[in-house]
Amino acid sequence: PLMAKGILELKSTQGPDALRPEIHEFLDRFFLSRIGIRMLIGQHIALHEEPMPGFVGLICEKCSPARIAREAVVSARYLCLLRYGAAPEVGVFGTADLAFTYVPSHLHHMLFELLKNSMRAVVELHGPGCEALPMIRVDLAEGEEDVTIKISDEGGGIPRSDIPRIWSYLYTTAEPPSLEHLDSPYKSDFYAPLAGLGTGLPISRLYARYFGGDLQVIAMEGYGTDAY
Ligand code: ATP
Ligand code: MG
Repeated sequence: PLMAKGILELKSTQGPDALRPEIHEFLDRFFLSRIGIRMLIGQHIALHEEPMPGFVGLICEKCSPARIAREAVVSARYLCLLRYGAAPEVGVFGTADLAFTYVPSHLHHMLFELLKNSMRAVVELHGPGCEALPMIRVDLAEGEEDVTIKISDEGGGIPRSDIPRIWSYLYTTAEPPSLEHLDSPYKSDFYAPLAGLGTGLPISRLYARYFGGDLQVIAMEGYGTDAY
């Protein structure tokens, strides 16, 4: 939240073009090294505590994306209901018993951010009064080389000219949250705004890349968005 506040202040004093490439690269490096430091400290502490079954430190040997997706759905729907009074249903499909070695909190972070984005897009497009908001799909697939998770929504997509900007730490189409709100660090997902910082996608991509993965967003303008 402190970094987000700084970014918002920069934007309010220097306009939306304030995020020059060198600042963007600095933020990428800063957030990536923060992920790495937290991973190392967390792993060290976890290894000195009572071991959790199935875990080596923070690393889960049978991390279940279906279970983590369902948990992220609950948190994201809660924020969406709070914001709009309505939230689309989410279906989780594909290999239900898929499990792989990963850090559950990282996967939760990515899925939560992507689900918040999809929910906001669906409710903004169809209106909170819509009786049948189109369902968001989470598809899980396990191949020889990759585990892939796709989140698909029918939230109207993203105009092509905006696609390069969605990875900017400043780009958001949501109202910015109040700066005072950012002063109280979020204690959990439940205290965060649904959208408004513009940091959701770039930080999620850093999490994906940290362990050699990636995050891609492909939009069909006028229909919806798929995030892989
Ligand atoms: P926050 O940092 O709180 O997540 P945000 O949602 O605005 O704020 P990002 O998650 O980085 O920031 O997304 C940036 C922008 O990309 C959004 O404001 C929205 O305009 C667009 N976007 C992202 N995902 C979708 C989607 N599934 N459908 C339509 N637009 C999207
Ligand atoms: Mg977001």
